Amino acid sequence: MHLCRLIYSSKARPDLGFTDLRNIMEKSEKNNPGDGLTGMLCFGNSMFLQVLEGDRGAVSRAYNRILTDPRHSDAEIIECSEVSERLFSDWSMKAVQLSGTQLTDKVKLTTQRYSSAPQFSPTAMTAKQCLLLMCELNALFASSL
Ligand code: FAD
Repeated sequence: MHLCRLIYSSKARPDLGFTDLRNIMEKSEKNNPGDGLTGMLCFGNSMFLQVLEGDRGAVSRAYNRILTDPRHSDAEIIECSEVSERLFSDWSMKAVQLSGTQLTDKVKLTTQRYSSAPQFSPTAMTAKQCLLLMCELNALFASSL
């Protein structure tokens, strides 16, 4: 058993809507606890940025399944590494919509801090920026509970 963290980005299907996101979250919340997975899924500007943490085999199986999902495409692995601890252990999968939330202004400022692009664009961010962004969003949402 090796604890690992995978970060990837992908393009959402152009007509992806709120119901799709809700369905994805329902599946994640149903499947991930049994697989020992934790993480965060950010969505904005028609892009996904997801971090998956857990046993390397479980993370690989989830990622391979997620890759075949027609609700997104063009997945890019940003980072995959063995880690000594989880950073997102509070969530089986925390969804963060980068617009349209009650924390929109704070989320927007946080997103801009880690990117040179005017809009959320994980493919234009380094692995370190992606992780720092999600850690900060994690803290933001944890403190707003
Ligand atoms: P089922 O729900 O029975 O699905 C069977 C097949 O149908 C799968 O190939 C699935 O991709 C496809 N499917 C199901 N519903 C739809 C739909 N509404 N539209 C199109 N195709 C559909 N799942 C997790 O378990 N954990 C995660 O962390 C996770 N993160 C995701 C992140 C993103 C960006 C996306 C797009 C999907 C994510 N999913 C996640 C969903 C994942 O891709 C699978 O749909 C899900 O894990 C399959 O669950 P299941 O084995 O119960 O099969």
